[in-house]
Amino acid sequence: MQSKLGKYELVKTIGRGSWSKVKLAINKIDQTEVAIKIHKLDHPDLNQEKVIIIQNEAKLLARIEHKRIVNIVEYYTKQVVEKSDGFKYDVVCVIVNELAKGGELYYYIKNSGAFLEREARYLFLQILEGLEFLHSQGVCHRDLKPDNILLTENYDVKISDFGFSGPLAGRSGDGLLRTHLGTLPYQAPEINLKLKYKGQNVDIFSLGVILFNMVIGVFPFRIAHQTDQCYRQIMKGQTGQYWKYFKSIVARNGGQPFSQDFKDLIERMLEFNPDKRIMLDQIKKHKWVTSRDVPSPNEIRIELARRKAINE
Ligand code: ATP
Repeated sequence: MQSKLGKYELVKTIGRGSWSKVKLAINKIDQTEVAIKIHKLDHPDLNQEKVIIIQNEAKLLARIEHKRIVNIVEYYTKQVVEKSDGFKYDVVCVIVNELAKGGELYYYIKNSGAFLEREARYLFLQILEGLEFLHSQGVCHRDLKPDNILLTENYDVKISDFGFSGPLAGRSGDGLLRTHLGTLPYQAPEINLKLKYKGQNVDIFSLGVILFNMVIGVFPFRIAHQTDQCYRQIMKGQTGQYWKYFKSIVARNGGQPFSQDFKDLIERMLEFNPDKRIMLDQIKKHKWVTSRDVPSPNEIRIELARRKAINE
């Protein structure tokens, strides 16, 4: 017998967040599969401030819906989970999300290496669509990374994990944000420098890191064991040091370099100065993005299915 949470039967754990477990579950009424993010009340790191962050994620997700976003089915701020042995425990927040069966983009790159530029373009266009929608709703994500880009069963992109999201304009009245959130290798330098920042700009920087990772197969600012080492690399980013990987990558790709348009777009997205960084509207018009060299949905699905088989 499986553990139960209301009408849902919890099948297995498919992911772990900082303060949560994500379970694959089945709605016993209509038999649909869902992903349920469960935050236990007695989690050692969960304090009142974090509970508010978690509940905010649920509220935010509940009011937006888009094909490139992991949509929420429902959420509860208090629930009881009943385990198969009859043991019950309290949870502070349960978010029932549509299931993204393909899993994290992260593993499609980590285990199989870089994508061809045209393949990366296909995925990038979908991520861009999701991000544009979020920004149009006045929301910035603030934690974009390949781990938070999920794929559906058909290998379509769904942006997930809105735990660090917030309003674009902030509360300061000057249209700037001041909460310093995110994950280091993807974090814009203005966040590292603890400056006030624009939500749009920091998301674009992270998107640049994702694009770099998709096409180059490594990160522009390596995930160093020591955070200060990674921090220094991001700060050095202003001198374009990340291209030092160029030679080894060309060698690995059988002598095939990446395009000038790609290089240009990356440099604009990873621009150190947030006021000079490329904006979403400009990204959409950039030559690399508008290129017609994009695989058909079928082609990309074959490639992603091949990569998924390696993940398993
Ligand atoms: P962190 O704080 O460490 O970034 P988190 O608490 O925000 O994590 P999520 O990133 O939302 O947690 O979820 C953890 C993992 O669970 C994801 O990386 C993914 O592998 C899996 N997961 C989350 N939501 C879904 C979903 N809707 N469909 C499929 N898998 C999911």
